[in-house]
Amino acid sequence: MTTQQDLYDALGVSREASQEEIKSAFRKLAMEFHPDRNKSEGAEGRFKEIAGAYEVLSDPEKRGRYDRFSSAGVNGGQAQGFQGFEGFGGFGDIFDAFFRGTASRRVAPQRGADLRVEMELDFADAVFGVDHELVFDRIEGCAECKATGQRTGTDPATCPECEGQGEIRRVQRSLFGQFVNVATCTRCRGEGRIITEPCSECRGRGERRVGARRAVKIPAGVDDGSQIRLSGEGDAGSHGGPPGNLYVQLGVRPHEHFRRAGDDLLYELPLNVAQAALGITVDVPTLDGDEVELEIKPGAQHGELLPLRGRGVPHLRGSGRGDLVVRAHVVTPTKLSADQRELMQQLAESLGTPSVPDDAGSLLGRIRDALG
Ligand SMILES: [Zn+2]
Ligand SMILES: [Zn+2]
Repeated sequence: MTTQQDLYDALGVSREASQEEIKSAFRKLAMEFHPDRNKSEGAEGRFKEIAGAYEVLSDPEKRGRYDRFSSAGVNGGQAQGFQGFEGFGGFGDIFDAFFRGTASRRVAPQRGADLRVEMELDFADAVFGVDHELVFDRIEGCAECKATGQRTGTDPATCPECEGQGEIRRVQRSLFGQFVNVATCTRCRGEGRIITEPCSECRGRGERRVGARRAVKIPAGVDDGSQIRLSGEGDAGSHGGPPGNLYVQLGVRPHEHFRRAGDDLLYELPLNVAQAALGITVDVPTLDGDEVELEIKPGAQHGELLPLRGRGVPHLRGSGRGDLVVRAHVVTPTKLSADQRELMQQLAESLGTPSVPDDAGSLLGRIRDALG
C-alpha cells in the first residue's frame, strides 16, 4: 500500500459511484480479503486498505472532504485516514458490522441437549462397582463437513434474503408511530448463509444421529435411583456451543437374600422358637461370597439385630464399608404334628405367660431407648 493510492481505486469504483455501489464493492472485497478467510500474504494489508477506504467513502461528509482536498483533506492526510480506521476498533468490528451473518455469529451458540439413559444393575454390582459399556444414540457434528452442512471443498452462499444479516428488518407504522420489526430470516434461519451443495453424509444438516459406545465406571456403593453424570457426552452443541451431558439413571435389581439400608446390608436369619430360646451357631452368607460364622446367644428375640462390622456396602464417598446386619426372624410354626403339639403344650404350661422383655430387641425396648 502506498499513501498515494486513491481511495476509489482501493475499492475499485469510480469517483461517481453511489453509496450503494461503494457498499457493495466493499462487501465483495472484504469478503475476499478478510484475514479470517484469506490466509495469503498481503491479505491483511489489502483488507486494511479496503476498510480504510470504506471508512472515508461511506461517510458522505468525509467523502466530500476527500473529494475536495483529495488525500490531504481527510484527517489531515490520507495515511492518517487509515489510522483513523484503526481507531474504529480493528478489523473485527467493521467486518462484523457488515458481515455478522456470514461470520455466523448471528446465531447464538447453543448447548447440546442432555441425554438420559437407564441402566439396570445387579445388586452386587451396585455394591462393589462394575465397568460397563453404554450403547446409546446421540447427535454428533458431521465429521465429513465439520458440521457446516456444506459439501467439503465448496462454499456456502450469502443468504440473498437477508444479505447475510440473519435477520429481516421491517419498518412498521402504527398509531403510536414507527418502529422496526426485527425477525430472524426464515430463508437461512438466522445463519446468514445458505448451503449451496449439501454434504452427502448429513444431507446438509451438519449433524447426524449416531450410535455411540462409552465405557462407564460404576463406582462401588451406588444405589437404586443413583445418577451418574458424564460431562459432555450428550448431544453435540450447535454454532460452537458445548455438548450436553449424559446422565445414567441407575436401577438396582433386588437380591434374593439381602436388602439395602443405606450402606448397611440387611439379612433376615430365620430361627425357630427352640433355636431362638436355646441359641445356635449359624453360617451367615455374605455378599462377598464367603460365609461368616455367627453365634446366636440363647434367648434371641425376634427382630434382634446382630451387626457384622464392615461386611456391608462400601461408602461411595470416603473409605470403609457399612455393616451386614443380621436380623433374627423368629418364625412361629403354623403346622404342628401331633408330637410337636404335645411338646408345645407341655412347654406352654411350663413357661406360663411371659412379660415383654425390656431390652433393645423388643419393640417396647426400642421405643424406650428412643425416648431416652
Ligand atoms: Zn437469511
Ligand atoms: Zn456433513
